[in-house]
Amino acid sequence: MAIVNFDECALVIMLVFNITSMIRREYRTRTNKIMLAMQWTIFISIFADFLSAHLINTGHTESWIRITVWIANYVYFFFHNLILALYMLYVFSSVDIWHLYHEQKKNRIFMVTLVAVNTIVLALNGVVFNVFTITNDVKYVRGPWIAVFYVSAALFGIWVFRTLVGYRRIINKDKLSVLLFLFIIIVGALLIQLINGDMLVEGFSMALAVLFYMVLVKKEEEQVDPITGAIRYTEGIDRAGKSFVTKKPLSYIFVKILNHNNIRLYLGAGKFNALLRATTAHLYEIANSNNFSAEVFYMENGLFCVMGSDIDKTKVSKVATDCYEQFSKEDRFEGFTVIADMSVCVAYSPEDFDDVSTLLTFITSYDQTISDARGLHFYGDLRHDKEFRIRVELEEILRRALDHNGISMYYQPIYSIMEKRYVAAEALIRLRDKIYGNISPAIFIPMAEASGTIHEIGDYVLNEVTNFISSIDMDELGLKYIEINLSSSQCIELDLVDKIMETLERKNIDPERVSFELTEAATGVNPEIVDINIRKLHDNGIRIALDDYGTGYSNIKRVTQLPIDEVKLDRTFIDMIDEPDMWIVIRDTVAMLKEMGKEILVEGVEEKKLAEKISELDADLVQGCELMQGYLFCQPLPKDEFVEFIKNNSNYEGMDIV
Ligand code: C2E
Ligand code: CA
Ligand code: CA
Repeated sequence: MAIVNFDECALVIMLVFNITSMIRREYRTRTNKIMLAMQWTIFISIFADFLSAHLINTGHTESWIRITVWIANYVYFFFHNLILALYMLYVFSSVDIWHLYHEQKKNRIFMVTLVAVNTIVLALNGVVFNVFTITNDVKYVRGPWIAVFYVSAALFGIWVFRTLVGYRRIINKDKLSVLLFLFIIIVGALLIQLINGDMLVEGFSMALAVLFYMVLVKKEEEQVDPITGAIRYTEGIDRAGKSFVTKKPLSYIFVKILNHNNIRLYLGAGKFNALLRATTAHLYEIANSNNFSAEVFYMENGLFCVMGSDIDKTKVSKVATDCYEQFSKEDRFEGFTVIADMSVCVAYSPEDFDDVSTLLTFITSYDQTISDARGLHFYGDLRHDKEFRIRVELEEILRRALDHNGISMYYQPIYSIMEKRYVAAEALIRLRDKIYGNISPAIFIPMAEASGTIHEIGDYVLNEVTNFISSIDMDELGLKYIEINLSSSQCIELDLVDKIMETLERKNIDPERVSFELTEAATGVNPEIVDINIRKLHDNGIRIALDDYGTGYSNIKRVTQLPIDEVKLDRTFIDMIDEPDMWIVIRDTVAMLKEMGKEILVEGVEEKKLAEKISELDADLVQGCELMQGYLFCQPLPKDEFVEFIKNNSNYEGMDIV
């Protein structure tokens, strides 16, 4: 009886699993399809085994019983043979080395040969009865050729084991342990059954193995984000990462909704998520209608990636064009009119990305990398553009620069209208790369902020500028302070103030000799920590300037809340001084800031006419702008040339630029 019990249990377990899998529709991906096929194959083989054992146990010997037992055993052997082949396919698919199964002929030859040999041996059994036979009194008797099945099982086993061990680096640990466990349990059961043919534990052990699989291995469906309906970001990176290891070529169609923030604001979070879900479905539809087998990933921030193992360029371009055209037009969504600003970019790996980190950099700084992102782009074409290459390789370039003295500081003099001489300077970073030459901070600072390298750059700037201050006699040169730019990311460093104060103390520099410029953008991020940092700096006697005023929201509230000593009016704001309305704005802004007790610096002064106009503000008001900076006076200069320049122009009165 015990014989039947094992198989009965196995049957029940398998039936429950198979039905659950079907109800949960776990057959959408290739791996799951193979798994489901394997589950049913196991079920059928256990059922046949069970039927045969049960009928034999009844002790009846009618011919229909004998025939059924014969058929049941054929079914058992045939499906059993398939389980091993399916298990092998499952391993190839789930480990994401499916392309190797196709590319390397030996895999296919190996599998087909084994299945064929087993099938032939099984077919011959009808003539020579050398695998098994059912005696006239309905007893099951094994023949010597049954060994063929054990040998082929062993060969399958070795093949799969080799594959698992060979790719263990890229297999998720849970998955690897389950696959190995499955392997051991099947081999173990086979051995038990080999030694004792009456113990039909094999089916049971397979059911157990499937149970472990169900419990431990994350189903691929779980990688689908219920909010967007697309596969998660991490899974996308994981798959791409594996493809570099296994040298699997992939195609990527990046689809980015550039104005996703606006659309979210407009629709609200709930409807926006529904829009993302609809977009995922639409992308699948476009891929399917082009017969392009791919999966859709959501990479956050409005960026989708249609990733496929089909690298046929005409087909990929067609899908990309369809994506661009179908999403770019005005659309009605749940009663709202939505106009998406689309950017689509086609790329291939390993052609376009060297490794997963270059891919990751591209994804995280997509908008910055493709400077004019709107439209349909091909990574391969963009690569001919120097600026694009710089943006893509920026991390590497920055590393090179930081390690090999590629970075230096320049100083641009600041002119005082009242004192008619230079009273300060702004430190500006310069990067010179051995391949790409000079690279503007306007390009690399925002990218360094996105990647996090900015902190290292900030440390360099602080160190270099304080070294410079220590090396010169500021009083003799008539310089009051040097201004240092702080990026938004630096403003939220928790140890910013300690670091600055420690550096100044160590180099014996009076805090009044430095001034930190923070941009308007910085005052918008995590205000508490920015406030704390800025206040502490100010409390320590350090001057604070607000940079680029007039380019952002010009948040008056922030200007009044923060201890700001100086406001730097941006050149784009001042440039429009000739427009009558703008003149009023500038005049009143200056008046307002003056009344708050702020010093005002006008940036980017290139023409004498503008400088004069700014000086006139002084006449109109009680007090006007006091500081100016720009090419009219001097370009940013390397430190020695800067010192030379200041020495030669220490008394400006005679020259009277203004
Ligand atoms: P910013 O702080 O607004 O710096 C002023 C920029 O205007 C500098 O560009 C300067 O060279 C340029 N400039 C000066 N006079 C004129 C003029 O008369 N006309 C015009 N058209 N431009 C003028 P630069 O050096 O390319 O720096 C660009 C931006 O990069 C800076 O803008 C600042 O935001 C950032 N940056 C530069 N150095 C640093 C640094 O050390 N740290 C950080 N965090 N950011 C920096
Ligand atoms: Ca600045
Ligand atoms: Ca500025």
